[in-house]
Amino acid sequence: MFYNGYFVRGVVGLSYKKYLMLLALIVLLGISLSWYFLNKREIPVLGYHEINNKEHSPLALSTTEFDAQMQYLHAAGYTPITPDDLLQFLRDGKELPYKSVLITFDDGYEDNYIDAYPILKKYGIKATIFLISHDIGLPGYLNWQEIHEMSQNHILFEGHTFNHPHLDKIQDDDELKKQLADSKVDLENHLGYKVDYLAYPYGDYNAHVIEKVKEYGYLAAFTVHLGDDTVQDDLFTLHRVPVFQAYTHTFIRFWLSLHCPYFMKELQYASAKWNKMKQSYF
Ligand SMILES: [Zn+2]
Repeated sequence: MFYNGYFVRGVVGLSYKKYLMLLALIVLLGISLSWYFLNKREIPVLGYHEINNKEHSPLALSTTEFDAQMQYLHAAGYTPITPDDLLQFLRDGKELPYKSVLITFDDGYEDNYIDAYPILKKYGIKATIFLISHDIGLPGYLNWQEIHEMSQNHILFEGHTFNHPHLDKIQDDDELKKQLADSKVDLENHLGYKVDYLAYPYGDYNAHVIEKVKEYGYLAAFTVHLGDDTVQDDLFTLHRVPVFQAYTHTFIRFWLSLHCPYFMKELQYASAKWNKMKQSYF
Protein backbone atom coordinates (compact mmCIF):
# COMPACT_ATOMS: atom_id res chain seq x y z
CA MET A 1 0.00 0.00 0.00
CA PHE A 2 2.78 2.38 1.01
CA TYR A 3 4.74 1.34 -2.03
CA ASN A 4 1.68 2.10 -4.19
CA GLY A 5 1.23 5.40 -2.38
CA TYR A 6 4.83 6.25 -2.99
CA PHE A 7 4.39 5.27 -6.62
CA VAL A 8 1.29 7.49 -7.09
CA ARG A 9 2.99 10.40 -5.33
CA GLY A 10 6.02 9.93 -7.52
CA VAL A 11 4.00 9.86 -10.73
CA VAL A 12 1.80 12.92 -10.03
CA GLY A 13 4.47 14.73 -8.01
CA LEU A 14 2.48 15.20 -4.79
CA SER A 15 3.86 15.90 -1.34
CA TYR A 16 2.99 13.29 1.27
CA LYS A 17 0.43 15.64 2.92
CA LYS A 18 -1.29 16.40 -0.38
CA TYR A 19 -1.29 12.72 -1.24
CA LEU A 20 -3.05 11.90 2.05
CA MET A 21 -5.60 14.65 1.41
CA LEU A 22 -6.28 13.31 -2.08
CA LEU A 23 -6.66 9.81 -0.68
CA ALA A 24 -9.09 11.04 2.01
CA LEU A 25 -11.08 12.90 -0.65
CA ILE A 26 -11.37 9.79 -2.82
CA VAL A 27 -12.45 7.65 0.17
CA LEU A 28 -15.02 10.29 1.18
CA LEU A 29 -16.37 10.49 -2.36
CA GLY A 30 -16.62 6.69 -2.49
CA ILE A 31 -18.54 6.57 0.79
CA SER A 32 -20.93 9.37 -0.28
CA LEU A 33 -21.63 7.72 -3.64
CA SER A 34 -22.29 4.32 -2.06
CA TRP A 35 -24.55 5.97 0.53
CA TYR A 36 -26.44 7.79 -2.23
CA PHE A 37 -27.01 4.69 -4.35
CA LEU A 38 -27.85 2.46 -1.38
CA ASN A 39 -30.44 4.94 -0.17
CA LYS A 40 -31.83 5.80 -3.59
CA ARG A 41 -35.04 3.84 -3.45
CA GLU A 42 -36.62 3.42 -6.83
CA ILE A 43 -39.75 1.42 -7.39
CA PRO A 44 -40.32 -0.28 -10.75
CA VAL A 45 -43.88 -0.09 -12.10
CA LEU A 46 -44.20 -2.74 -14.78
CA GLY A 47 -46.61 -1.94 -17.62
CA TYR A 48 -48.25 -4.84 -19.43
CA HIS A 49 -51.08 -4.98 -21.99
CA GLU A 50 -52.18 -8.32 -23.47
CA ILE A 51 -51.12 -11.77 -22.29
CA ASN A 52 -52.18 -14.60 -24.60
CA ASN A 53 -51.02 -17.20 -27.08
CA LYS A 54 -53.11 -15.93 -30.01
CA GLU A 55 -52.30 -12.25 -30.62
CA HIS A 56 -48.85 -11.55 -31.92
CA SER A 57 -49.00 -7.80 -31.59
CA PRO A 58 -46.03 -6.03 -29.98
CA LEU A 59 -48.26 -5.42 -26.94
CA ALA A 60 -48.91 -9.12 -26.32
CA LEU A 61 -46.80 -11.51 -24.28
CA SER A 62 -47.30 -15.27 -24.41
CA THR A 63 -48.42 -17.02 -21.24
CA THR A 64 -45.05 -18.81 -21.10
CA GLU A 65 -43.17 -15.49 -21.18
CA PHE A 66 -45.45 -13.91 -18.61
CA ASP A 67 -45.25 -16.96 -16.34
CA ALA A 68 -41.42 -16.87 -16.47
CA GLN A 69 -41.43 -13.19 -15.45
CA MET A 70 -43.86 -13.70 -12.56
CA GLN A 71 -41.94 -16.76 -11.41
CA TYR A 72 -38.76 -14.67 -11.41
CA LEU A 73 -40.35 -11.89 -9.33
CA HIS A 74 -41.71 -14.48 -6.91
CA ALA A 75 -38.44 -16.42 -6.59
CA ALA A 76 -36.32 -13.25 -6.34
CA GLY A 77 -38.37 -12.13 -3.34
CA TYR A 78 -40.18 -9.15 -4.86
CA THR A 79 -43.17 -7.79 -2.96
CA PRO A 80 -46.00 -6.76 -5.30
CA ILE A 81 -47.54 -3.50 -4.07
CA THR A 82 -50.66 -1.44 -4.79
CA PRO A 83 -50.81 2.11 -6.19
CA ASP A 84 -51.76 3.24 -2.65
CA ASP A 85 -48.52 1.73 -1.31
CA LEU A 86 -46.56 3.55 -4.00
CA LEU A 87 -48.32 6.85 -3.29
CA GLN A 88 -47.67 6.57 0.46
CA PHE A 89 -44.01 5.84 -0.26
CA LEU A 90 -43.62 8.74 -2.71
CA ARG A 91 -45.78 11.31 -0.96
CA ASP A 92 -45.54 10.44 2.73
CA GLY A 93 -42.20 8.67 2.91
CA LYS A 94 -43.76 5.44 4.19
CA GLU A 95 -41.25 2.62 3.94
CA LEU A 96 -41.75 -0.20 1.46
CA PRO A 97 -40.18 -3.69 1.43
CA TYR A 98 -36.68 -3.60 -0.08
CA LYS A 99 -37.71 -5.19 -3.38
CA SER A 100 -41.13 -3.77 -4.20
CA VAL A 101 -42.78 -3.82 -7.58
CA LEU A 102 -46.10 -2.49 -8.90
CA ILE A 103 -47.56 -4.61 -11.70
CA THR A 104 -49.99 -2.83 -14.02
CA PHE A 105 -52.00 -3.71 -17.12
CA ASP A 106 -53.52 -1.12 -19.47
CA ASP A 107 -56.82 -1.24 -21.41
CA GLY A 108 -58.54 -4.16 -19.62
CA TYR A 109 -58.21 -6.92 -22.23
CA GLU A 110 -60.22 -10.07 -21.53
CA ASP A 111 -57.03 -12.15 -21.70
CA ASN A 112 -56.01 -10.46 -18.45
CA TYR A 113 -58.75 -12.62 -16.89
CA ILE A 114 -58.35 -15.74 -19.04
CA ASP A 115 -54.56 -15.96 -19.28
CA ALA A 116 -52.82 -13.56 -16.87
CA TYR A 117 -55.06 -13.93 -13.80
CA PRO A 118 -54.42 -17.70 -13.27
CA ILE A 119 -50.65 -17.03 -13.42
CA LEU A 120 -50.91 -14.10 -10.97
CA LYS A 121 -52.97 -16.31 -8.64
CA LYS A 122 -50.43 -19.15 -8.90
CA TYR A 123 -47.67 -16.92 -7.50
CA GLY A 124 -49.94 -14.90 -5.19
CA ILE A 125 -49.08 -11.69 -7.06
CA LYS A 126 -51.35 -8.66 -6.86
CA ALA A 127 -51.78 -6.36 -9.84
CA THR A 128 -53.63 -3.26 -11.01
CA ILE A 129 -55.61 -3.00 -14.25
CA PHE A 130 -56.38 0.39 -15.83
CA LEU A 131 -59.83 0.17 -17.48
CA ILE A 132 -61.28 2.01 -20.48
CA SER A 133 -64.79 2.45 -19.08
CA HIS A 134 -66.55 2.50 -22.48
CA ASP A 135 -64.97 -0.80 -23.56
CA ILE A 136 -65.96 -2.91 -20.56
CA GLY A 137 -68.02 -5.87 -21.79
CA LEU A 138 -67.14 -5.38 -25.47
CA PRO A 139 -65.68 -8.39 -27.31
CA GLY A 140 -62.04 -8.84 -26.30
CA TYR A 141 -62.41 -6.75 -23.14
CA LEU A 142 -63.14 -7.65 -19.52
CA ASN A 143 -66.78 -7.69 -18.43
CA TRP A 144 -68.08 -6.68 -15.02
CA GLN A 145 -68.50 -10.26 -13.83
CA GLU A 146 -64.82 -10.98 -14.49
CA ILE A 147 -63.80 -7.68 -12.94
CA HIS A 148 -65.78 -8.41 -9.78
CA GLU A 149 -64.29 -11.88 -9.47
CA MET A 150 -60.76 -10.55 -9.87
CA SER A 151 -61.50 -7.75 -7.35
CA GLN A 152 -62.06 -10.45 -4.74
CA ASN A 153 -58.56 -11.83 -5.39
CA HIS A 154 -56.05 -8.99 -5.10
CA ILE A 155 -56.59 -7.38 -8.49
CA LEU A 156 -57.31 -3.65 -8.34
CA PHE A 157 -58.93 -1.55 -11.02
CA GLU A 158 -58.19 2.08 -11.86
CA GLY A 159 -58.96 4.57 -14.64
CA HIS A 160 -57.79 4.71 -18.27
CA THR A 161 -60.41 7.25 -19.51
CA PHE A 162 -63.76 6.75 -21.26
CA ASN A 163 -62.61 5.68 -24.73
CA HIS A 164 -58.83 6.01 -24.89
CA PRO A 165 -58.26 9.38 -26.63
CA HIS A 166 -55.04 11.35 -26.95
CA LEU A 167 -55.84 13.59 -23.96
CA ASP A 168 -53.32 16.26 -24.98
CA LYS A 169 -55.24 16.82 -28.26
CA ILE A 170 -58.60 17.54 -26.57
CA GLN A 171 -59.50 21.25 -26.64
CA ASP A 172 -62.99 20.98 -25.15
CA ASP A 173 -63.23 20.86 -21.34
CA ASP A 174 -66.58 19.03 -21.49
CA GLU A 175 -64.86 16.26 -23.41
CA LEU A 176 -62.06 16.17 -20.81
CA LYS A 177 -64.71 15.92 -18.09
CA LYS A 178 -66.31 12.96 -19.88
CA GLN A 179 -62.94 11.22 -20.28
CA LEU A 180 -61.60 11.89 -16.79
CA ALA A 181 -64.48 12.57 -14.41
CA ASP A 182 -67.54 10.76 -15.81
CA SER A 183 -65.59 7.57 -16.57
CA LYS A 184 -64.14 7.69 -13.04
CA VAL A 185 -67.61 7.95 -11.46
CA ASP A 186 -68.89 5.15 -13.70
CA LEU A 187 -66.07 2.84 -12.57
CA GLU A 188 -66.56 3.83 -8.92
CA ASN A 189 -70.30 3.02 -9.09
CA HIS A 190 -69.55 -0.49 -10.32
CA LEU A 191 -66.47 -1.17 -8.21
CA GLY A 192 -67.78 0.24 -4.95
CA TYR A 193 -64.51 2.00 -4.14
CA LYS A 194 -62.80 5.23 -5.11
CA VAL A 195 -60.77 5.29 -8.30
CA ASP A 196 -57.73 7.38 -7.38
CA TYR A 197 -55.26 6.62 -10.17
CA LEU A 198 -55.12 7.22 -13.91
CA ALA A 199 -52.95 5.87 -16.70
CA TYR A 200 -52.74 8.34 -19.62
CA PRO A 201 -53.72 6.59 -22.91
CA TYR A 202 -50.60 6.48 -25.12
CA GLY A 203 -48.86 8.24 -22.22
CA ASP A 204 -50.09 11.57 -23.64
CA TYR A 205 -50.73 14.55 -21.38
CA ASN A 206 -50.03 18.28 -21.09
CA ALA A 207 -50.18 20.89 -18.33
CA HIS A 208 -53.94 21.48 -18.80
CA VAL A 209 -54.70 17.76 -18.70
CA ILE A 210 -52.73 17.41 -15.46
CA GLU A 211 -54.69 20.35 -14.00
CA LYS A 212 -57.97 18.56 -14.84
CA VAL A 213 -56.72 15.20 -13.56
CA LYS A 214 -56.01 16.87 -10.21
CA GLU A 215 -59.32 18.78 -10.25
CA TYR A 216 -61.30 15.55 -10.74
CA GLY A 217 -59.72 14.00 -7.70
CA TYR A 218 -57.07 11.60 -8.97
CA LEU A 219 -54.16 11.28 -6.55
CA ALA A 220 -51.53 10.26 -9.09
CA ALA A 221 -51.18 9.41 -12.79
CA PHE A 222 -48.94 7.11 -14.80
CA THR A 223 -47.20 7.78 -18.10
CA VAL A 224 -45.37 5.34 -20.34
CA HIS A 225 -42.00 7.09 -19.78
CA LEU A 226 -39.45 4.43 -19.08
CA GLY A 227 -37.99 4.54 -15.59
CA ASP A 228 -38.50 3.74 -11.93
CA ASP A 229 -40.23 6.04 -9.47
CA THR A 230 -38.45 7.94 -6.72
CA VAL A 231 -39.57 10.43 -4.10
CA GLN A 232 -38.42 13.34 -6.26
CA ASP A 233 -40.85 12.45 -9.02
CA ASP A 234 -44.02 14.35 -9.87
CA LEU A 235 -47.03 12.28 -8.81
CA PHE A 236 -48.89 13.11 -12.04
CA THR A 237 -46.17 12.01 -14.45
CA LEU A 238 -45.05 8.76 -12.88
CA HIS A 239 -42.74 6.48 -14.85
CA ARG A 240 -43.30 2.89 -15.79
CA VAL A 241 -41.28 0.07 -17.25
CA PRO A 242 -43.23 -1.11 -20.32
CA VAL A 243 -42.90 -4.84 -20.92
CA PHE A 244 -43.46 -5.59 -24.56
CA GLN A 245 -43.14 -8.74 -26.52
CA ALA A 246 -39.78 -9.14 -28.06
CA TYR A 247 -39.47 -11.86 -30.62
CA THR A 248 -36.24 -13.00 -29.02
CA HIS A 249 -34.56 -12.57 -25.66
CA THR A 250 -37.83 -11.56 -23.98
CA PHE A 251 -36.67 -12.57 -20.54
CA ILE A 252 -33.30 -10.83 -20.86
CA ARG A 253 -35.05 -7.64 -21.97
CA PHE A 254 -37.47 -7.94 -19.05
CA TRP A 255 -34.59 -8.47 -16.59
CA LEU A 256 -32.65 -5.49 -17.96
CA SER A 257 -35.76 -3.27 -17.92
CA LEU A 258 -36.44 -4.25 -14.31
CA HIS A 259 -32.91 -3.77 -13.06
CA CYS A 260 -31.44 -1.13 -15.37
CA PRO A 261 -34.33 0.94 -16.80
CA TYR A 262 -32.01 3.83 -17.58
CA PHE A 263 -29.73 1.62 -19.63
CA MET A 264 -32.76 0.36 -21.57
CA LYS A 265 -33.92 3.95 -22.08
CA GLU A 266 -30.55 4.86 -23.61
CA LEU A 267 -30.76 1.75 -25.77
CA GLN A 268 -34.24 2.78 -26.97
CA TYR A 269 -33.03 6.29 -27.84
CA ALA A 270 -30.02 4.88 -29.64
CA SER A 271 -32.10 2.43 -31.69
CA ALA A 272 -34.71 5.13 -32.52
CA LYS A 273 -31.88 7.44 -33.66
CA TRP A 274 -30.29 4.68 -35.69
CA ASN A 275 -33.62 3.89 -37.39
CA LYS A 276 -34.13 7.56 -38.21
CA MET A 277 -30.62 7.80 -39.61
CA LYS A 278 -31.19 4.70 -41.70
CA GLN A 279 -34.41 6.22 -43.10
CA SER A 280 -32.74 9.45 -44.12
CA TYR A 281 -29.51 8.02 -45.49
CA PHE A 282 -30.47 4.68 -47.00
ZN1 LIG B 1 -54.09 2.12 -23.24
